[in-house]
Amino acid sequence: MEEGRRRFLLGSGVVAGSAAVVGYKETLGAVALLKDKGERAKDSIYGEAAEPEVRFESGRALVNPKYSIRPSVCNGCTTHCGIRVKINQESGAVERVFGNPYSLLSSDPWLPYNTPLKESLEVLSAQKESGLHHRSTACARGNAVYDKLNDSFRVTKPLKRVGKRGENAWVEISPEQLIQEILEGGNLFGEGEVEGLRSIRQLDKLIDEENPEYGSSANRLCVLGTADEGRQVVMVQRFVQSFGTVNFMGHTSICGLSMRAGEAAYLNDFVGYPHLKPDFKNCKFLLNIGTAPAHAGNPFKRQAKLLAQARTTGECRYVTVTPILANSDNIAVGERSRWLPIAPSGDLALVMGMIRLIIEEKRYLADYLAIPSLESQKALEEVSFTNATHLIIQKGEKEGQILKDSQGSPWVIDAKEGVLRDSKSVLRGELDFAGEVTLEGVSYEVKSAFLLLKESALAYTLEEYASFSGIDSKEIVHLAREFTSYGRSVGVDCHGGTMHTTGFYTTYAVMMLGALVGNLNHKGGMSMGGGKFEDFNGEAYNLIAYPNKPKPQGARIDRARMAYEKTSEFKRKVAQGENPYPAKAPWYGLANALESDVITNSEEGYPYKLGALISWCANFIYGQSGSEHLLESLKDPKRAIPLFIAIDPFINETSRWADYIVPDSVMYETWGVVSPWGASLTKASHLRYPILPSPNAKWSNGEPVSMDSFIIELGKALGLPGFGKNGIVAKSGEKFPFDRPEELYLRAFENIALSGKAVPEISDEEIELAGLKEYVGKLQAINGENWRRVAYVMARGGRFAPIEDAYKGDSLSRAYPKAISIYNEALGTSKNSLTGERYSGVPRFYAPRFTDGRSLEEAGLGDSRSFLAFSYKSNVLSAPTTASRHLKELRYTTFVDMNSQSAKALGIVHGERVRVVSKGGFVIGICRLREGIHPRSIGIEHGAGREGEGAIDLFINGNVIRGEIARRSGVNINKLGLKDASKGKVGTLSDFVIGSNARQGIPVWIEKLS
Ligand code: SF4
Repeated sequence: MEEGRRRFLLGSGVVAGSAAVVGYKETLGAVALLKDKGERAKDSIYGEAAEPEVRFESGRALVNPKYSIRPSVCNGCTTHCGIRVKINQESGAVERVFGNPYSLLSSDPWLPYNTPLKESLEVLSAQKESGLHHRSTACARGNAVYDKLNDSFRVTKPLKRVGKRGENAWVEISPEQLIQEILEGGNLFGEGEVEGLRSIRQLDKLIDEENPEYGSSANRLCVLGTADEGRQVVMVQRFVQSFGTVNFMGHTSICGLSMRAGEAAYLNDFVGYPHLKPDFKNCKFLLNIGTAPAHAGNPFKRQAKLLAQARTTGECRYVTVTPILANSDNIAVGERSRWLPIAPSGDLALVMGMIRLIIEEKRYLADYLAIPSLESQKALEEVSFTNATHLIIQKGEKEGQILKDSQGSPWVIDAKEGVLRDSKSVLRGELDFAGEVTLEGVSYEVKSAFLLLKESALAYTLEEYASFSGIDSKEIVHLAREFTSYGRSVGVDCHGGTMHTTGFYTTYAVMMLGALVGNLNHKGGMSMGGGKFEDFNGEAYNLIAYPNKPKPQGARIDRARMAYEKTSEFKRKVAQGENPYPAKAPWYGLANALESDVITNSEEGYPYKLGALISWCANFIYGQSGSEHLLESLKDPKRAIPLFIAIDPFINETSRWADYIVPDSVMYETWGVVSPWGASLTKASHLRYPILPSPNAKWSNGEPVSMDSFIIELGKALGLPGFGKNGIVAKSGEKFPFDRPEELYLRAFENIALSGKAVPEISDEEIELAGLKEYVGKLQAINGENWRRVAYVMARGGRFAPIEDAYKGDSLSRAYPKAISIYNEALGTSKNSLTGERYSGVPRFYAPRFTDGRSLEEAGLGDSRSFLAFSYKSNVLSAPTTASRHLKELRYTTFVDMNSQSAKALGIVHGERVRVVSKGGFVIGICRLREGIHPRSIGIEHGAGREGEGAIDLFINGNVIRGEIARRSGVNINKLGLKDASKGKVGTLSDFVIGSNARQGIPVWIEKLS
């Protein structure tokens, strides 16, 4: 490509000041003379484009004084990329967003951390084509969604409902009235007495004397968050824990909990819930199941770039197994990329078939699997190890437990000498063992974990797996052989596609494929991520600790993290000689949080009824399959939630049912600290601080209302530990107040700056360039002698380790240290609280089912004419971005996607209106026919078909803002969601082990409307 043309096409805000483009000016001018309304554009080359923020002249970057370029973090999706925001100094308006070249989520390669700020602007220019190499981007969504900042439906003052819940009619109130009413309660709505937060927080009063394990009255407050956008630690550690409630949930149960829990089982950590991502850069073969990198997933943008690099300049071949053809597949790379269509929820059978074939044909890495301990791993200079040789007790009181000595060390059969030995003292154990052994004088019947996996995989024939999955057995064989043909630089990944009733075991099985080839911690294999710099607990401050911090205890409202067998209900039944099963409703001892069960559990009063709910940008009514069944419960304050407070800058489908709205800050107005959650092999911490003023109402100290300032004011009014005077204690013992968000976040930034080797001090020139002058006073006051180091981190949008830190030879530098669970003991010793059945401790095929084990098929939810509906993530839309008008220009609506042959058989043509009906509800949409979709399925893109955030009329102080049809347009698949009667009156269908909401594989019928 010619030099001049290439420069023009760079399309960056950094333009060359040379005459390189002049040769094209005439031609381009001819096509760019007119605006859309027939007026002349202001520039014949650049049309109406804004002026560039930086000009490159005489070898140096000159910043346009009309603009400031500030670092921030994008909240367009849960990736939370490091970005730069171009702000017009005169109007204060955001004009453009682009990537932060220091951030690994926006650039690859990313800049060395000590690169001077000015150079970080220069390298993005066309000079010597460095802009191509260093390109740093925001995706289409990230570049559009900032118009939310000024959306007409944005809430900037506290609101109190007038009329009935859900009518979307409100009156503005002062921040002080808000605090007073929610704290003290009273007859707030003329509907009777409402208990306030002060009365709910009684730490020494039990909820239920008969069931003391339910904990104190404070547990009757539940707080719902969403994805952690950088402030969750503050909400949880400072407010929720200080209040004394155990009840905080993020959005995981309606997002990807089946994936998270399956990986937690594989990594044997149901507390920390770690998870893995492929090392895309060096992967030789990648198997994506129920996820589509480059189309969705997290980190959305980074995965897309790494995959594109891997399939073109790298050696990667990959197969994507999904019901719909997405952007992961790429025709230009020929055989390197392949799409394997599968019906929704057919994935577990496919993977168990692959495991069967791999074991039968001995295509697994036996020498690796035989390594029984960390000691043997180190002696053999291996990268990871598994518990494949550990022995599982088959009978008696200890049934399901791993055979361990009194010190807790597993014993295995030494592969060399055939005798029972401490796993620490043998290099390799027997993989395939069944028999009787004696340890510390007691005899046990045992089987090795690997043998249990083998038996489980062999429980069905390949033909049966083919029939359950809908994938031909020859294809299963081919895929299993292909997967095991690339050594250990092989990745496996799955995500939202596993959100069906057997999704937990699906993920466990998918990960197990990786164990069979030994890919954990291996270059090109699977990584637990590069981690982060110490932030809230670091060198100078432990910001999650404070004097008199309570230790919340007791059963959670979602009945997660507690086994039914620990409850008084179970013990009472046993004491009375009754069969303790079934429990009144399911308990999920291995799940970490179930937002999707809060309303139904509170309505049932099991384990107890909530006094108040605070939702913070949560939106389960839009995001939860079957949420329509919850609306009646939310509507009536007496049924499930007596007091409902929503912290939200917009009134979404969920906050619409609240009693009060507390306006939050939006995007670049907020504080926060985030780190990537995968697909990065090196340390990274992104930080965000207000680079725009908030238009929100102010507290008496001048601080704008936001989540942070709200919990501070609430905490102070309640007298909670950790707020106000002496709320922050340095590691040196020095005490500071916690009255404003900056007093905490700037100290977290200080920890990041000082973590390990402290970052350099910033120069005055960089303070100017980063627009940090207004922060100098606060930095000096809060960070003292470290203020220039904190500013250095702020100017770069965070702190990022170099790529050189990623590998040590063939292994990853940051390795997962514990054993992979071929057999998971916690799982294998847990029982279903409804049936009393012990769960399989190894991956196993189960047909789609309700929590009590009844088959979905036998329940008559579908028939020979029905299809299986599935939801797929959008590469443009996302649930929290409805209020972006720009985004609507990129993707106006969503459709009912259907295979053209299946449609033909029903006489449906492209563009026809159809009704999609399930046993849980129906939706109406426009049918979009495509070839790239499994013929038995119906696909619906997630993100449109809204009833909040400006989609419906909003009444404030008697004035109406009319809802926009564009925001209502499209289809919301979750209205088709099913109930599970074994989970209470309005319990929604979920995974039978872990409780994650089931939105995939819903049986539906299609009806023509015209
Ligand atoms: S992937 Fe796009 S929308 Fe998501 S955080 Fe990054 S730039 Fe924003």
